Amino acid sequence: MSSGDRLLDAALADPTARFLLFRGEDVLLEGTEPVLVPLADLTIPTEALSSAVLVGYEDKAPRLALDVSDLGEESDEFSPPSGRFRSLRRLKDPIDLATWGFLARARALLEWHRMHPVCPVCGAPTRSEQGGKLRVCMACEEFHYPRTDPSVIVRLVRGERCLLARQPRFAPRVRSVIAGFVEPGESLEETVRREVLEEVGIRVGRTTYLGSQPWPFPMSLMVAFEAEALTEEIRLDDEELEAADWYTREQVREDVDAGTLILPSLKSIARRMIEEWLGDSSK
Ligand SMILES: [Zn+2]
Repeated sequence: MSSGDRLLDAALADPTARFLLFRGEDVLLEGTEPVLVPLADLTIPTEALSSAVLVGYEDKAPRLALDVSDLGEESDEFSPPSGRFRSLRRLKDPIDLATWGFLARARALLEWHRMHPVCPVCGAPTRSEQGGKLRVCMACEEFHYPRTDPSVIVRLVRGERCLLARQPRFAPRVRSVIAGFVEPGESLEETVRREVLEEVGIRVGRTTYLGSQPWPFPMSLMVAFEAEALTEEIRLDDEELEAADWYTREQVREDVDAGTLILPSLKSIARRMIEEWLGDSSK
């Protein structure tokens, strides 16, 4: 089979190639480990392989990702050789950061390709090239590269306390730090100040970069900051948040123990930001 993409064809012809399988936001896992499926075990029509993307190499062995959503839930055409499809978003088990990064890259790439079948310049169809690294317009030949959308995630602190808030879409009792998308023309620090002011009505002083995490829903990069609150009174934005309060470390620990507060999932940078603050009793 030839997909017309030499890099993808070479990967597909390599006997050491393995596939990560997705159904939208769900990925095929065995426990917390992605199932790596050899081509020989993929009982799917060969034309479906042309939409595979090359995620990377592991000791020179190609690692590809393929969305099998169109191949039916329980159809005879396709059933996974082992494991089960689980939502990446709702994955609660501990998952190591390298595995998360790999899955995030695969999922973000697949989603970007799904959303860009036509050229945003002229409207003609595009084709995937270089194993999915880009798409090229079949009429005007414009190159289109996968996007990453930055968001900030903010641990807002004032003295010994940290602000934890609830978005309406969170599961019951879950609270987290504040997050929001970077708007065109903004620096990350400006986004931190704007989001905090908009969502809880608090002015921000010092900001400190804490780290970042890919978040493939659909293709974000969460950039984490600690921000010092200059004011204390919380004024909620009705739409973004349904609750926000200042917590001491002791309150967080007590509420978590009592089951009245649930922290975000273990794989998220939000959880690590809160845990890091909890463990830091020197401040
Ligand atoms: Zn075009």
